[in-house]
Amino acid sequence: MPIYEFECEQCGERFEELVAADAAAPACAACGSEHTRRLLSSVSPPGRQPRGAGVRSDESRRREREAARQDRLASSRKKRAAGEKP
Ligand SMILES: [Zn+2]
Repeated sequence: MPIYEFECEQCGERFEELVAADAAAPACAACGSEHTRRLLSSVSPPGRQPRGAGVRSDESRRREREAARQDRLASSRKKRAAGEKP
């Protein structure tokens, strides 16, 4: 279930609630008023992110980490072959 951010029209309190997409707005966490509205928040729950730049950059970061690891392995192997201490 996605997390939505709500704002109370009564007291201005903002709070986050786990609710179904078509559920009614929950009562205010601070004053109990039912006059709350869902905010268009930037919170993107996992699994609902669009496939795009974020996914690609995650993948490229992973490749960079793997490449760096291979570099370290290769250089430590070279050092050992040359008889140096790491
Ligand atoms: Zn309130």
